[in-house]
Amino acid sequence: MSEVVLQGVSKTYPSEVVAVEACDLRIPDGQFAVLVGPSGCGKSTMLRMIAGLESVSQGTIHIGSREVNHVPPKDRNVAMVFQDYALYPHLTVDRNLRFPLEQRRQTSLLKSCFSLNARRARRMETSAIDARVNEVAEQLGINAYRDRLPRTLSGGQRQRVALGRALVRDPAVFLLDEPMSNLDANLRLDLRTELKQVHRLLGATMIHVTHDQEEAMALGEVLIVMREGVIRQVGTPAEIYNQPADRFVASFVGTPPMNFMETSMVDGAVDVDQHKSIKMNSAYEGAVVLGIRPEAVRVGSGPYQGSVTAIEQLGDRMMMTMQAFGVKLAARVDGSVSVRTGNNCSFDLDHSGLHVFQPGICGVRIA
Ligand code: ADP
Ligand code: MG
Repeated sequence: MSEVVLQGVSKTYPSEVVAVEACDLRIPDGQFAVLVGPSGCGKSTMLRMIAGLESVSQGTIHIGSREVNHVPPKDRNVAMVFQDYALYPHLTVDRNLRFPLEQRRQTSLLKSCFSLNARRARRMETSAIDARVNEVAEQLGINAYRDRLPRTLSGGQRQRVALGRALVRDPAVFLLDEPMSNLDANLRLDLRTELKQVHRLLGATMIHVTHDQEEAMALGEVLIVMREGVIRQVGTPAEIYNQPADRFVASFVGTPPMNFMETSMVDGAVDVDQHKSIKMNSAYEGAVVLGIRPEAVRVGSGPYQGSVTAIEQLGDRMMMTMQAFGVKLAARVDGSVSVRTGNNCSFDLDHSGLHVFQPGICGVRIA
């Protein structure tokens, strides 16, 4: 079992910056979890604490049944892949791949250097290393450039080698810190697919960090959404998208982002327009923020009126912006709907794409 469990984990840096605050989290064995949030919210700190590269200020971390707070990184059975690849520049791809295994062999040989069988053990280990490196190079399609130095490779190739170097040790937990952020968009898509395959193949627990919500939604079985050192929500991509716990989570996922307007609730109905209100499943009364997903704005006909301010063609769909309800409202519209900038249009709202939050930037969802 290699589940990862954090209990009351905090990190305060010597500079007094509180990077992570009292986090409780359980990532089950074999899960692909994605830690996502804006830059500076504490994702890397969290990952580095799990890897053992950063001490924990408070709380405990378990990997499997073992508390690892004081276990050095090399003994945690975790592998970490970084954004900047961190390959050894003077070693060929092949040597980079072999490095973690050779290092481990040296440690075990040192322990057994007085044994008569040491030479035989060494020969056997070498063929086991060959076999493992061959297997991983094959899996990741690295064979064609095994003799080259990292600087002669493209970003995608380098990242693949970095992934391979983490893979050869067969760790129980993989930690990936923004491994795709130096790659161009197409390569990122390729590597997403590859990562999913690797995960299926290994069945290892993976924790992937990204600030890119689209990447998180595409990759994660479970998303852990962070803001300013605090976990705001843990859930499947569908749960995060359809039942955001608070206004921050709601605004962070979705392209284009959710629209927000300040309004009020009376008798369980939210005011959307003069004399028009929508019944919500909540008894909350008073000032609220109404969130409207862009795809919930149904342009063409309906009881509401807006003035079209911009249109962006996206092939089969359009992104439309209009002035309505006293705010700028983004709508995702079918390409066949005929609208023009400067014209008025009628629209309706799909109630499943409406969410009500308490006022404030992090207001919790109340309907
Ligand atoms: P993320 O990976 O989400 O961008 P980080 O975990 O790197 O966030 O950083 C979280 C906060 O901790 C930031 O305010 C950052 O400036 C601060 N921080 C990160 N590393 C250190 C460090 N070694 N010393 C002091 N502050 C740090
Ligand atoms: Mg980071």
